[in-house]
Parts: sequence; C-alpha cells; structure tokens
Amino acid sequence: MALIVQKFGGSSVADVERVMNVAAIVTDTYRKGNDVVVVVSAQGDTTDDLIEKAAEINPKASKREMDMLLSAGEQMSIALLAMAIEKLGCPVVSLLGWQAGMTTDSAYSKARIKKIDTSRIIAELDRHNIVVVAGFQGLNKYDDITTLGRGGSDTSAVAIAAAMHADRCQIFTDVEGVFTADPRKIPDAIKLKEITYDEMLELATLGAQVLNNRSVEMAKKYNVELEVLSSLTKVPGTVVKEVTKMEKMLIRGVTKDTDVARIAVTNIPNTPGIAFKLFAKLAQKKINVGIILQSVGRDGTKDITFTVSKDNAEAAMEAVGNIFSIEESNIACDTNVAKVSVVGAGMESHPGTASRMFEALYEQNINIEMIATSEIKISVLIDAADADKAVEAVHKAFFEERK
Ligand code: ADP
Ligand code: ASP
Ligand code: MG
Repeated sequence: MALIVQKFGGSSVADVERVMNVAAIVTDTYRKGNDVVVVVSAQGDTTDDLIEKAAEINPKASKREMDMLLSAGEQMSIALLAMAIEKLGCPVVSLLGWQAGMTTDSAYSKARIKKIDTSRIIAELDRHNIVVVAGFQGLNKYDDITTLGRGGSDTSAVAIAAAMHADRCQIFTDVEGVFTADPRKIPDAIKLKEITYDEMLELATLGAQVLNNRSVEMAKKYNVELEVLSSLTKVPGTVVKEVTKMEKMLIRGVTKDTDVARIAVTNIPNTPGIAFKLFAKLAQKKINVGIILQSVGRDGTKDITFTVSKDNAEAAMEAVGNIFSIEESNIACDTNVAKVSVVGAGMESHPGTASRMFEALYEQNINIEMIATSEIKISVLIDAADADKAVEAVHKAFFEERK
C-alpha cells in the first residue's frame, strides 16, 4: 500500500465526462489498496472567466477580493469530483485549502506556502476516505483566503506530497508528459521519458506551462519525484527527478515566453553603484528581473536594458523614474517582445549550442535583441511576431535528426 498524491488540472475536469473520468482514475488507485490524496484545479476556463467577471465590475479590485473570488473555482471542482467519487461507490471527503491545513504568507494573488498542518488529511485517510483538496489556495495569518498564482495547483500538490512524505506525486494534465516543445504548437515535439529538476525548472520558468515553476522548485527542495502524465490516455508520462543516469540529450527543450516587457534606461551616469541602485529598488518592489544588458553610451553615460513580466512593467518604469532624475524620454518600455530559450544540461559540455541556435534564427532572418545564458540555458529576446517561427526553427535545428 502506498500514499499517492494525484493532481488534475483544469482541462482534466472541464466537463461532466472528464470529472467522471478523473473519478475513475482516482477510485482505481484507491481500490488497489492505496491511500489517495487528490488535488484539483478549477474546471476548464473558470479562473479566466472569474477574472473577466471581476474586471467588468472593478478592473482595479483589491487582490484580497480577487483571491476570495478565484478560490471559488476550486471549491466547485472539489465538490463535483467528490460527488463523482461517491457515485462510483468510494468514501470521499473534499477539503478547501484551509481545511487541509494549508497556510501561506500574506501576498495575495501570489502567496507562498509556509506550512501544511496535515492532521486533518491524516485523520481523513485513517477513516479510509479519499481526500480531495482544493489546489491553488491557502489561508494567511489574518485568516484570509490567498491564492498561489496562476498554475498554483501544481504547487499545492507537490507541497502536500512533501508534507505527507507521499510515495508518488502524479500530475495529470491534457498532454502525455513534458515534451521538447509545446506539443500543441510543434507537432514534431518529442515526449521526454525523464528530465532533471534543474532542467524542468528552467523550462517551466521560461514558458513551458505544463508545470508551474514553483512546484518544480519545491519538488527539488523536498526531493519529491514527479510524474507528468495524461488524464486521457493510459501511457507512461515524464518523470522529473534528481540527476541519475538519463538518456544523453544536448537540449531537453525549446520554450517561448511572451509575458515579457523590455525596459531600456538610456543616458544614465557611467559611475559605480548605478546598477546596484536600480536593481535594489526593483528587488524592494519584489519585481523579478529576467535578462539584463548594460552597454556604455556616449559622453560618460551608460544604458541599462532589462526584462520583467508584463504585469510588472509599469511598476518597474515607476521605480526607475524615481531613482534617476532623468527625462521620461530616456526610459522606454517595449511589450512586443518574446523570449525564446533552449534548455539542457548537455550544453555545458558541448560547444556549439549557441551557434546552432543563432544560425537557425539567422536562417529565418530573425533579429536577436538580447541574449542571456546560464550553464543549462540560452535565451534570446526577439520581436514577439517572430516567436512561433523561432521556436519551430530552433526546435528543428536540434531535433530534426532524432525523428
Ligand atoms: P493543467 O490545466 O493540467 O494544469 P496547463 O494548461 O497548465 O494544464 O499545462 C498543460 C499545457 O502545457 C499543455 O496543454 C501544453 O499545450 C502546454 N505546454 C507548453 N510547453 C509544453 C511542454 N514543453 N511539454 C508539454 N506541454 C507543454
Ligand atoms: N485555477 C488556477 C489557474 O487557472 C490554478 C491552476 O490551474 O493551477 O491558474
Ligand atoms: Mg497548469
């Protein structure tokens, strides 16, 4: 007998038929003698629909009230799934985040899990119940509902698996695993049997939506082995784990991220401490920075260009304006950009990865505006209009011979 955590994303519970399908997977696992904790997301596009509805009433609604609203999506899906499981004849209880002991910090709309008091989940499992927990939500120290940020149910599942020392954590979704690129956009994408936490973390951070990046971070920290698999077909998925012996691949995947804004600050003094002041201010405002580029300008000045997510662009512009008393014309923001990346631990020991990527872009006449690298990734910033073409060309350059 094992303790298994199974997470089902929004598309896996989108309609009645899919809810019944999930109930069948869960009850199968239970009937094999396992303890089962299930984490579910809101059905289909429910979260997007709720966001739209809120915007009709108040586009500047407080984050507290947004969290109160959005958490309702998961409340509906846990009850519906529990009813489906009841129908299939198994004992079940549904729990909201707070009932499952999930406490978070107070950052509404992007809260971080602080602690899980597992006593209720354990008590329910002792009563032989299947436990269905609402993903994406918790409770802060003011007893307010918080949400964990888009895609946060993955993190709920991994956190519960870690806190319960689960034997397995399965992330069921609408594709058969993690692919070398988004399989909905690149039909030739190849399903990976395995991937390391570090590679998966880069892929998730750089735009592969299949797993939320915080969930991967947490899985790595607590050594929770994840399996990403389809709720619709019964085939083995992708295992995300620590490095062991894995199939050698130079590149594990290609990603696209269009949630990027580029901010250019020009003609600032070329003196020590400028970059420190700028990025300290952004850090203070909790603005995450992606690529940074500094270049020397004319007459003792320099330019600093950096990327942030689109929703942080305005705050970043404001922060920059506040530190440097520079003219507004010297701060520019461009949101028509996209970041395309290749990720793979193999590139560390293989020269020529960057040139292969840049050649593929050159052949498509795509201009590179910024470049950033780490040991296991290369990212380029390009015009958003070129992004899909770029992913296709780069994917082809690395994977064509493997078909
Ligand atoms: P869920 O509702 O199950 O959480 P998501 O929509 O969040 O599902 O994530 C699954 C989607 O991620 C897939 O439908 C796929 O289009 C997209 N995706 C993007 N990049 C990748 C990738 N490299 N491998 C697999 N899926 C990917
Ligand atoms: N329902 C939330 C969202 O759409 C959380 C999740 O799906 O993981 O982002
Ligand atoms: Mg998701």
